[in-house]
Amino acid sequence: MTTRTDCLARDADDPLAPLRARFDLPAGVIYLDGNSLGARPKTALARAQQVIAQEWGQDLIRSWNTAGWFDLPKRLGDRLAPLLGARAGEVVVTDSTSLNLFKALAAALHMQAEGAGAARRVIVTERANFPTDLYMAQGLADWLARGYSVRLVDSAEELPAAIDADCAVVMLTHVNYRSGYQHDMAALTAHAHAQGALALWDLAHSAGAVPLDLHAAGADLAVGCTYKYLNGGPGAPAFIWVPAHHQAAFRQPLSGWWSHAAPFAMAPAYAPVDGIGRALCGTQPIVSLALVECGLEVFEQTSMAAIRAKSLALTDLFIALVEARCGAHPLGLVTPRAHARRGSQVSFTHPHGYAVMAALIARGVIGDYREPAIMRFGFTPLYTSYAAVWDAVEHLRAILDEQAYDIAASRGAVT
Ligand SMILES: *Cc1c(COP(=O)(O)O)cnc(C)c1O
Repeated sequence: MTTRTDCLARDADDPLAPLRARFDLPAGVIYLDGNSLGARPKTALARAQQVIAQEWGQDLIRSWNTAGWFDLPKRLGDRLAPLLGARAGEVVVTDSTSLNLFKALAAALHMQAEGAGAARRVIVTERANFPTDLYMAQGLADWLARGYSVRLVDSAEELPAAIDADCAVVMLTHVNYRSGYQHDMAALTAHAHAQGALALWDLAHSAGAVPLDLHAAGADLAVGCTYKYLNGGPGAPAFIWVPAHHQAAFRQPLSGWWSHAAPFAMAPAYAPVDGIGRALCGTQPIVSLALVECGLEVFEQTSMAAIRAKSLALTDLFIALVEARCGAHPLGLVTPRAHARRGSQVSFTHPHGYAVMAALIARGVIGDYREPAIMRFGFTPLYTSYAAVWDAVEHLRAILDEQAYDIAASRGAVT
């Protein structure tokens, strides 16, 4: 049976432990919600100060050139690319994940309509996908009309059969936000291609959480968040990946001037720029965008292989300790035990999941709650220690043993 002393010994041996000092976390908090909003890199404060006081305050509009504001979406994209298995010139950091999904989905449907897949009108995805992904797909299909529709499948096992001769694009979230289930990206992409469909991957819970190799997997398009595992800051712009071999055929309907071949020619006619720039739309929130770099700098101090090794060790430890120490309580493990099928979070159901999570948060153990009855715990190897996992489980054990939670507690707008 693992003891707290064992956990401290593992922390002393942990090659990632020094990186915790790169983050500002409040004392007394065990933060297990970096899958929803990553912690703040210490450098973000000075970077925000620099952008606001110097670049905006002193240099004013000259900063579009002198501070590199205009190129920032591409510069950040190039810096993020290695974490995705993408290449330079294939990623931009811009807009929200929802908007990038819209652009990528529309472009995928357009590619099919212009090619051999002209008769294909179905977007295949999972009912358990994050709702905005479903809403954006439904909105696009309804708006296009002309027979476009969304097909929802109820389990990973049903996916292959649902990807048929009508399917234009398979749009999947690589790691499920609720269960932590990780799809086999390469196998599903290969299956989609064999059926004549394109594969669009949402990496919201994968980027910075699990090793990714979009090129090796043969993926067609991808999007994802920077404010979760990548520590970009609340509401930080998202990313979109268009591999070089699809860029010429990539046409998206949000054809704003930042995607124009010559934005400052101020020409009345639209002409998309060559390359990844055609995935852009309009002017970006520069203060927020600039902070994304602070998170990426921390990732450059280590490797996704090291992060993954610790992530699996943390999630294995959490599962083992919960099962050993809280085994008398009605907790149900939702997240797969198989490493290959697991992201960097662990979810447990409990009949009073919301109330138990509220009690944990009141004690400084911050996870979150997702319907139905799921307590979600995110494990971010850059700043989570083994001892913190032990302490979190001890709080959970005490709350459950003492029934120290309020079933009647009211809920905040954001759970
Ligand atoms: C977090 C998340 C989003 C968030 O989309 P926003 O446009 O940033 O609100 C989208 N999709 C998935 C799968 C997510 O996990």
